[in-house]
Amino acid sequence: MAFSIDRDRLIKELEDLGRFNRTPEEGVTRFSFSPEDGMAREYLLSIFASMGLKVSVDGAGNMRARLEGSDPDAPAVLSGSHIDTVLHGGCYDGTVGTLGALEAVRAIAESDLPHRHPIEVIVFSEEEGSNFGSTLSGSKALVGKYSLEDMENLKDPEGKSMAEMARDAGYEPETMADFLLRPGDIRAMVELHVEQSVVLESMGVPVGIVEAVAGIRVVEIRMKGTANHAGATPMTLRRDPLVAAAHIMAQIETLARGSGTGTTVATVGKIACFPNVSNIIPGEIRFTVEIRDVKAAGIQSVLDGISALAPAIAASRDISLEIISVSDSDPVQLDGDIASLSEECAAKRDIPCVRMNSGAVHDACMLAPIVATGMLFIPSRGGRSHVPEEYSDPDDIEKGVSLLADVLYELAR
Ligand SMILES: [Zn+2]
Repeated sequence: MAFSIDRDRLIKELEDLGRFNRTPEEGVTRFSFSPEDGMAREYLLSIFASMGLKVSVDGAGNMRARLEGSDPDAPAVLSGSHIDTVLHGGCYDGTVGTLGALEAVRAIAESDLPHRHPIEVIVFSEEEGSNFGSTLSGSKALVGKYSLEDMENLKDPEGKSMAEMARDAGYEPETMADFLLRPGDIRAMVELHVEQSVVLESMGVPVGIVEAVAGIRVVEIRMKGTANHAGATPMTLRRDPLVAAAHIMAQIETLARGSGTGTTVATVGKIACFPNVSNIIPGEIRFTVEIRDVKAAGIQSVLDGISALAPAIAASRDISLEIISVSDSDPVQLDGDIASLSEECAAKRDIPCVRMNSGAVHDACMLAPIVATGMLFIPSRGGRSHVPEEYSDPDDIEKGVSLLADVLYELAR
């Protein structure tokens, strides 16, 4: 079934949503629970109301708008994303998947073609972590990974908690337990999102079908030697932790390339040098290692390599070494049947597509372990995202949303 989506209506709504923005002229800033977020939600609610959808909002602010099917007891098909942004972000990250799901559901509703399962547009709250430094907070609450206690403990830099902010925005965090996602109530979830990288653009392909989302492991390595005079200390009598760190970093690149999966990436993105003065041998170095892979074995291989190499390199220079775990998220495999269905639907429409992995995490990752979940990507111009220059071509948006409508209908019929 090929639905015709209203491209002009969708692009206008994308532009409209971009106006609910704390930093006009400097990208889009719309944090969850802010006045701008409230206005953007009112805007969406008015569209949901005009479509006659039944709306529910949970204690974390996740919003669901439901188009009934012929069987009200059948498990629902979900699609959506988030509308919050980073500071000075763009107009497309999250909103394409939110308004795209809305347009897809509207196209299905307007077609009058029958479907058995309800279809819901879902708008996740606080995906970007802009308030509390923790991503996917809304979807984590929805699947029970964040309790009310966690929402009380998650605080912004001013000390205001997620639960407090949710209350001030009119939600009732105490009721979150009543809204937890029950796997039996959901048939499938499909999230459309901008790719936020250059793979699709470089291939000239408008749609990516995501098979897996990379896990991310971050460790901090702390090395201590002896700070001393850079002129008076002979090379043979130094305990320089920066030189030791440099040897370890060079090995990390080798470990990532040789992890065996072919998909591992590892990055040293942050270094602190103390005292960081040109004529003093450093006394202490701290640096992060961020490792990503869609296969857990790749991440583990780099970690094992670091654990084997780093102590030896440090010891050979009489440097102390500590490896501290900072964060850890597992790789997520998406549903193979939804990927195949997406491919078939794309073929029927003559939309070129390619199977790929995601290096960024999305709300769909929280749902994937409990319900059949798929993701579709469309290209980001220049691969840029989380910046005001973020852009996706209306042609690609139209293709992605058309395909989404077909996939949602096939899952719901
Ligand atoms: Zn996003």
